[in-house]
Amino acid sequence: MNRIDIKLGLTILLLLITIILPLGFVMNQIFYGFYVSQAQEETHMLSSQYANLINDSTVENRLEVVEVAAKISNQKMIALSDEGEVWAQSNFVMSHHDTEYLLDLIHSANSHHYMTNSFEDSDGKTYIATASHINVNNAKGHVIVFSSLESIILSIKNVQNFLKLSAIGALFLGIGLTYFISKKLSQPLVSMEKAARQISKGNYNTRIVQKSGDELGTLARAINDLAFSLQRINDQRREFFANISHELRTPMTYLKGYSKVLREGRWKTEEERNQYLEIIDHEATRLTYLVNDLFDLAQMDEGRFNLEHKKVNINEIIKLVVKKTAYKALEQNLKIEYLGELSDKDDSIVLGDPLRLEQVLINLVENAIKYTKEGSITISTVSIDENIKIKVRDTGIGMEEDELPYIFERFYRVEKSRSRAFGGTGLGLSIVKQLIELQNGTIEVESTVGEGTEFTIILPKISD
Ligand code: ADP
Repeated sequence: MNRIDIKLGLTILLLLITIILPLGFVMNQIFYGFYVSQAQEETHMLSSQYANLINDSTVENRLEVVEVAAKISNQKMIALSDEGEVWAQSNFVMSHHDTEYLLDLIHSANSHHYMTNSFEDSDGKTYIATASHINVNNAKGHVIVFSSLESIILSIKNVQNFLKLSAIGALFLGIGLTYFISKKLSQPLVSMEKAARQISKGNYNTRIVQKSGDELGTLARAINDLAFSLQRINDQRREFFANISHELRTPMTYLKGYSKVLREGRWKTEEERNQYLEIIDHEATRLTYLVNDLFDLAQMDEGRFNLEHKKVNINEIIKLVVKKTAYKALEQNLKIEYLGELSDKDDSIVLGDPLRLEQVLINLVENAIKYTKEGSITISTVSIDENIKIKVRDTGIGMEEDELPYIFERFYRVEKSRSRAFGGTGLGLSIVKQLIELQNGTIEVESTVGEGTEFTIILPKISD
């Protein structure tokens, strides 16, 4: 019972049956009503015609005329006095008991005409009977015309048989149709289930071919998208681990190599020894940065990255960043300045994490210093409508246009050797972008080779 085609089939069949049965019943009732009312009309017409003839005083031997007419037309008729005396009859003989019973019915109806839906005589035969009032030589009575229900019942039976046959036909047709529809509906579901199982086993290149535009098509496309996303995540994960191993291996090699040289006392001058120690220190710092960056990224990926959401004065943060990075800029003879200060009170307040915003700006400014040989680094701010725009601009080596879409990706470096020489991890900008987005902001970059680079951060402002 767990197969969808069986469930679907049974549901359709049940539906068909619930339609066919009441429909058959209603049709049966309609036909029965139609035949009976037709017979009633006929008998009523005849009984009133006979009554008119009998009551018409100019017609001689009125009762006999009516009796002959009824016999000729093979009509069941009886003319009775109210006391039960039979005046005339044609094709119909009633027992005394039946006569009394019928007269009782007629009298209690108390109307000029009387009509029964069915009258059953003592032989068990059913009739429709219509009585009309007559007057014979001042004696009151009724002329009653009967119509046998047997022929009607026969006609109804024929109709019923026809209905039964149609119902069976419809049922068979329904079964065929059900089989076809349920197969057609369940087949894509079965293939989707197979595909989902393949995907769950790690075969991410599994795809479902389902071109229909209905819900099944949408579901198939959703499964295909899921497989595609999983494939991409898997590729990224593989690439990510390969990158991490590579990034860890390089400083480790340096650390191991130079500490061995020192341990074995393989240095000649004090200056040489200091140089080795400096390399060890540099690589250890790089490792620390790398591990910290990886830790931040892992937390962001898991959605467990705790960010403060408090009022932050961007002006103050920028001033602090300038102060902290000034010595690095000075080391390279670069000028670093902050232009276009916002008014401290109204325009420079955003909702965010001050330490993380500082980290973002230090990262951008340090990159600017790293990749600029001469000139200056400029930070500027401007308030536009609901936002604050912060620009970090340098006059450095710049980047090719086609590199720009990738620089926010993890471990992406424009020139592998160039960045390594500058001591970067390739994770800085991806962390910057995620931190900005976590604080409801955006970051963009523009750059020209040989002229410089400009990063623009947009953060939503809050004003009290
Ligand atoms: P890294 O730690 O290697 O600097 P980032 O993620 O911070 O990694 O930057 C990615 C790449 O973008 C860098 O390798 C560098 O080539 C390029 N880049 C970043 N900032 C600048 C800049 N201001 N000028 C030129 N190139 C830059």
